[in-house]
Amino acid sequence: MSLYIKIEEPKSTRKALLVGKINVLNALKRCEEHNEIRAKLKTRLQELNSILSSLPEKIDEIKGMLPVVDVGKVGFAAGRLRCEMCGKFFKTERGLRLHMSKQHPVETTKKEEVESAATALDRIEKQIEMIEKEMTQL
Ligand SMILES: [Zn+2]
Repeated sequence: MSLYIKIEEPKSTRKALLVGKINVLNALKRCEEHNEIRAKLKTRLQELNSILSSLPEKIDEIKGMLPVVDVGKVGFAAGRLRCEMCGKFFKTERGLRLHMSKQHPVETTKKEEVESAATALDRIEKQIEMIEKEMTQL
């Protein structure tokens, strides 16, 4: 961009025009810097996005590097892990867990029912004890 100014007025007018020109140039410079910062910000955000989108792959990589501990081979005799519902045997705890969640999904609620029944039974037994104590005092 070029700006030509011809001045025939006194020095003060020339100075004022030059100051105005400097202000315009400074504003243009600031605008340029602002645009540069925005461009940098955009590239940084794109880099960050690509890093974030590659995170699941990296996590999978790390998982692949970790040793797989097969509980069935390390600590337990083969066939030790048995499904209590259908009697099927499993080599690994994971296999048994998967089997339980797929084949017997109501297992957990049954457990809860049994536990709540047991606590109810305890409560009734305690009440009977109290009644018996009261009976002996009569
Ligand atoms: Zn089973």
